[in-house]
Amino acid sequence: MRKQFFLLSLGCPKNTVDSEAMRCLLEDAGWASTDRMQRADLLIVNTCGFIESARSESYAALRDLAQQKRPGQQLLAVGCLSQRTGDSLRQEARGVDAVLGTRRWVKIVDVAETLLRGESLHQDCAGLASLVAPMRRQPDSPSAYLKIADGCSAPCAFCTIPLIKGPQQSKTQSAILGEAQQLVSQGVREVILVAQDTTAYGRDLGLQDGLPNLIEAILDEVPQLPWLRLMYAYPQHVTPALIDTMAAHPQVCHYLDLPLQHASPSVLRRMHRPTDMQAVRRILGRLRGAMPDIALRTTYIVGYPGETDVEFQELLDWLQEACFDRVGIFVYSREEGTPAAQLPDQVSAEVAQERYQEAMELQRRISEERNRAQIGRSLDVLVEGVDRGISVGRSYRDAPEIDGYVLLTAASHVGDIVPARITQALDYDLLGEPSESAPTASPCD
Ligand code: SF4
Repeated sequence: MRKQFFLLSLGCPKNTVDSEAMRCLLEDAGWASTDRMQRADLLIVNTCGFIESARSESYAALRDLAQQKRPGQQLLAVGCLSQRTGDSLRQEARGVDAVLGTRRWVKIVDVAETLLRGESLHQDCAGLASLVAPMRRQPDSPSAYLKIADGCSAPCAFCTIPLIKGPQQSKTQSAILGEAQQLVSQGVREVILVAQDTTAYGRDLGLQDGLPNLIEAILDEVPQLPWLRLMYAYPQHVTPALIDTMAAHPQVCHYLDLPLQHASPSVLRRMHRPTDMQAVRRILGRLRGAMPDIALRTTYIVGYPGETDVEFQELLDWLQEACFDRVGIFVYSREEGTPAAQLPDQVSAEVAQERYQEAMELQRRISEERNRAQIGRSLDVLVEGVDRGISVGRSYRDAPEIDGYVLLTAASHVGDIVPARITQALDYDLLGEPSESAPTASPCD
């Protein structure tokens, strides 16, 4: 009988990619995946250690599984929290049998076999850069994430990622093309490129224009791919070459997630991020000039140490000026080991929460207005689910898991790309009906 594993994946899409690759490696080695934890020989939690709330969730999941596990079952913690804490994680979550960091997940099969034999783990490292990770399409999803680099070389003062993952390590282009080929040959309709900063792709390999050249290479390799989406761009790394490439290829979704973190130059200085908001204005202008229909997402942090009322007002003013389609707002989380944790004038939780509510309410109105502007438009919708005659999908304006949906008044099939006319806008979602018109030249138009 095949050994079985139960895998719980927490955290961001980058973690999801690693989880899916681990699942594939184990299955290829003869293991079977089960969604019933009691049946599994091995329980795996891919943890997140980014901020306090994510760590709490990861510890809670580990303790929960540790309590439920039956004699003979092994519990393995992998991922960011494991990398950050090392073996001391086992003090916080009693019952965890072993810990595997983010830089060693390719050893998952060896680790799993070793654990089941009751032996101790070797702490050797594995190189990820040129590994063509096994990629298997999720049967219920027409989209797949493809991780092009790991780690981050930016100096943001609040962020634990460089501590956890180290500097950026880009995958080789041939490894990425191999993974893209695997996904598309399994019927994936949308490939989503992710990294901590996709726009820095290739810098550590000495490449110039790494991301635009990679996009060209992917589209040469899999020209039949309908949608290619980019996530997590660093504003100052969005070059004219990248914008031209995005605009030139109809498969590239006119969508960009461009985390800005704040809009006040003095706060940005304390964040160790670029402070030139005129440069940001120029980048937004170029993006919108080259792709007038582009949907832009960003994220901001409120309650950063020393944030004054005036600086917060600068952020609110910017929200109205920049008119992003989607915005994620986070309350600052003080993270041990980061420069920001040492800054004076930490903002009280109460003030940070009030600012969060105010910024969210303002952006809700802006997003609603941007959504209402879609009424009457024709959008192609990638169908993700069908229920009682209603198809649920996303247009090029919506990244999976973080943006809205388009609900269509007709049944379809998962993976279909349906031309639709938008009839109604809600705060974050759209309603539409399939249109008779043929799809426009761009699948993302
Ligand atoms: S660019 Fe993003 S991942 Fe990198 S240090 Fe800054 S916030 Fe962290």
